[in-house]
Amino acid sequence: MTILVTGGLGYIGSHTVVELLQNGFQVIIVDDMSNSEKFILDNIEKVAGKRPVFFPFDLRRKELLAQVFDAYEIDGCINFAAFKAVGESQEKPLDYYENNLFSLINILQEFKNRNISNFIFSSSCTVYGQADQQPIDEDTPLKTPESSYGKTKQMGEEILKDFATAYKKKVSLLRYFNPIGSHPSALLGELPIGIPNNLVPYVTQTASGIREQLSIWGNDYDTPDGTAVRDYIYVVDLAKAHVKALQKLMAETSETVIDIYNLGTGKGSSVLEVVESFERANDVKVPYKICDRRDGDITVAYANADKAERELGWKAETSLDEALRTTWEWQKYLESRK
Ligand code: UDP
Repeated sequence: MTILVTGGLGYIGSHTVVELLQNGFQVIIVDDMSNSEKFILDNIEKVAGKRPVFFPFDLRRKELLAQVFDAYEIDGCINFAAFKAVGESQEKPLDYYENNLFSLINILQEFKNRNISNFIFSSSCTVYGQADQQPIDEDTPLKTPESSYGKTKQMGEEILKDFATAYKKKVSLLRYFNPIGSHPSALLGELPIGIPNNLVPYVTQTASGIREQLSIWGNDYDTPDGTAVRDYIYVVDLAKAHVKALQKLMAETSETVIDIYNLGTGKGSSVLEVVESFERANDVKVPYKICDRRDGDITVAYANADKAERELGWKAETSLDEALRTTWEWQKYLESRK
């Protein structure tokens, strides 16, 4: 089976490519390198023992995409390619809508025209906004996300539901909670551009001295220690869920399938707990200061991921400490490359 993985050199994409290769799939990556680097391709090969086919182009280039579909018999797609910086999406909403949605539609057109099914979409728990209840299951009502980034995820889901219904296709919408960590080999991980926005890359860069101190955005939330709570899911666990979701889609006998799964651990951790866990796992200090709340942040979000366990036989296995240990190993690897 041959799977097109868009954004396959990115953070979650590269880990998923490794899992696909290790499970016997052929992989074709399309990635425009806007948020990734070529050495990741070499490292995928080192980890998986196989080199995926790679095309560096922007998925808005329809004619190049069609050539890939002409050249290979593609059985499915996992679509990671997207801009993902929440703050930037507020400044450049049109860039986000254009990049994230046009590229999605271009692939779906190829699927429609060539009679291909099995499409997996990277969605996000941001589609729930500040949910009225925790933990969040898949039936929790969606709220319009604050950011344009979040809206592209919600719109992407709607596009895929219509696509599956109208053209009798199988799709899986995977709603990630907060992905963290790196591959145990320390050869794959997140490559934040500039000053990280996300918590764990910022913590990591603070521990290594690149940043002076972590700003904790608010300690007056209605949570046990006052800092905001999220569900941090280890990226390799997350990658494995994609293979399970794909295998389930492929085994489905119905023509039309719309699967939706929350991918999280089911456990909420506060910002302070993440800092403490990082310090404990790596025996390093993370200096921090408490600051005002960050605009647009919600108080708490953690998953009920029972549906994924029931239907995919998947569940998160890696502890927060262990995930944060791999993050530190990756940081050391990055520094050794300089
Ligand atoms: N956070 C923080 N300092 C930072 C980055 C993030 O205190 O430098 C907090 C943020 O306010 C949120 C949590 O860490 O409560 C997770 O933030 P992240 O941006 O990683 O994910 P998201 O907000 O999308 O859940």
